[in-house]
Amino acid sequence: MAEPQSQQQRNIVIVGGGIIGCTTAYFLARHPLFNPSLHKITIIEAQSIASGASGKAGGLLALWAYPACIVPLSFKLHAELAKEHNGAERWGYRTLHVGSIRAKGKVYGSDVKGEEKGGGEEWQKLPKTKNRGKTLASIPKDLDWFDQDCIKGYSEMGTPETTAQVHPYLFTTSIFQLAAEAGVQITYGSVTAIDSFDNGVKGVTYEEKETRHIKTLPASDVVLAAGPWTSHVFPEAPIDAIRAHSVVIKADVSPWAVFTEIDLPRDFGRKVEVGEKKRRHALNVNPEMYARPDGTVYACGEGDTDVPLPKTSNLVVCDDDRCQDITDYISSISTPLRTGDVLIKQACYLPHVSSGGGPLIGETGIRGLWMASGHTCWGIQNSCATGKLMSEFIFEGEAKSAIIETLDPRRFL
Ligand SMILES: Cc1cc2nc3c(=O)[nH]c(=O)nc-3n(C[C@H](O)[C@H](O)[C@H](O)COP(=O)(O)OP(=O)(O)OC[C@H]3O[C@@H](n4cnc5c(N)ncnc54)[C@H](O)[C@@H]3O)c2cc1C
Repeated sequence: MAEPQSQQQRNIVIVGGGIIGCTTAYFLARHPLFNPSLHKITIIEAQSIASGASGKAGGLLALWAYPACIVPLSFKLHAELAKEHNGAERWGYRTLHVGSIRAKGKVYGSDVKGEEKGGGEEWQKLPKTKNRGKTLASIPKDLDWFDQDCIKGYSEMGTPETTAQVHPYLFTTSIFQLAAEAGVQITYGSVTAIDSFDNGVKGVTYEEKETRHIKTLPASDVVLAAGPWTSHVFPEAPIDAIRAHSVVIKADVSPWAVFTEIDLPRDFGRKVEVGEKKRRHALNVNPEMYARPDGTVYACGEGDTDVPLPKTSNLVVCDDDRCQDITDYISSISTPLRTGDVLIKQACYLPHVSSGGGPLIGETGIRGLWMASGHTCWGIQNSCATGKLMSEFIFEGEAKSAIIETLDPRRFL
């Protein structure tokens, strides 16, 4: 009788050290069938852990995120991991309230003339309509960081029972650290090809980061977790990329995550040169803001496709004007944000499935080649379920903790 797969030698290679690669490594190393004398787990990362969106995202977790088949599992696993590993201190895990506000922004000392609509790609966590048409309700007392005369409407979106947050960079690097302590190894290099034999994987070819030498790493299993770069590694993968900017501002405010719909005055902002084109300000904008336990507020804006995904995360171009737009938008309705120092301006690329839907989690149809990619704007929220389900696929042959046929990569390939 053939040995069960879990009792065979396995060389599991995870391509990408973002949040998905790291949670996959963590749950593989914690799986009851993981046997360090038989199983080797290696993350291969092109630059550094969390150097893509996983280190630059907002970090909101919500029971109303999507897709519904993995959200509750992931939300629960986040809470359990935080409890087990002191996530409150290590990665800023906390439950919090979430609200949505409609507001009319004001111009403060802007010396530049604003224009008409345009410029952005929709990728926000909420459908446009969700913010609209809500009943006017009084804004909660402790949500006191917005200028009262700007607020036109408020609605509750989440309570500490349904919404929480993590600091994505700290979460990803901590989970990597925990996986490394459990025996996961790391190699730094860019995977250039998946090597296969008889319709099964046998390893990966990569360019070593330091020496730029081309090398190979043997593998019985390869997990594609390279986020927006997944199609660079495996061209059949239907994963696209949208760039998004964000800022972090010093402001010690009450623990809220806030979605907005801000009407800007017509004389707001600047006209920005983008190559040959002039990008114009929209007059209705939707920045999201997340207060963090470290006395900062993270804010992000719309996505764009002005600059294609570069080869590696260290080559991502951050457009200062787009960061300034976000700062101007949120400053137009909040005094603490207007007066706080801007500590970080950054950009990254969001992975999404070309046809919509996803993320894609599971088998690819090539023996030993797995996919865990295309997490759109909910990859932090859905990371834990993805890692756990991947560990079940690899050691038990199927997803056990959730029913995820709709996310089967073979339906999209
Ligand atoms: C502005 C913004 C805000 C967001 N806010 C939230 C939020 O509040 N809540 C939430 O749940 N989600 C949020 N997200 C979404 C979340 O950030 C992503 O879904 C998630 O980070 C994707 O993780 P990943 O590991 O798939 O990809 P990435 O983080 O991009 O990681 C991929 C890794 O693969 C590496 N890599 C690439 N090519 C190769 C190669 N050839 N060989 C080896 N390694 C390679 C990269 O260097 C990188 O480290 C946000 C995203 C953005 C852009």
